Amino acid sequence: MIDIQNYNNNNIFAKILRNEIPSKKVFENDDVYAFEDINPQAPVHVVIIPKKEFCSLNDFSSNASDETIIAMMRSIKKIADILELNNGYRIISNVGQVGGQEVPHFHIHILGGASLGRIISS
Ligand code: 5GP
Repeated sequence: MIDIQNYNNNNIFAKILRNEIPSKKVFENDDVYAFEDINPQAPVHVVIIPKKEFCSLNDFSSNASDETIIAMMRSIKKIADILELNNGYRIISNVGQVGGQEVPHFHIHILGGASLGRIISS
């Protein structure tokens, strides 16, 4: 079961941040790194992560500085512009087991490039 209580610095996204495994960069600044998802669920699928260590949205929301939270939120529109998602997009953050979180480093998915339908398929 995924542990989102204790940060594990061997998670895949920590390794991407340390350049131990490659990624296709879309955007980067002092606080945030964004890269293409390796298993895209839409024509455009990018993952946005804070450079600091947070296990999940819960950890980020409770413990990140206001500056870091603002940087993450502001990065979304910048990345949407870079990706030319002019007709809209969806953001998702999976939290814990029920949410389907696989990688225990907080991230926001940004998806677009085609009509995405309902939030959860029935
Ligand atoms: P989660 O299910 O935790 O919300 O999303 C984790 C995401 O990370 C998945 O969409 C998965 O495809 C992506 N992912 C897992 N391993 C890698 C990797 O090594 N490189 C990249 N670019 N994405 C990955």
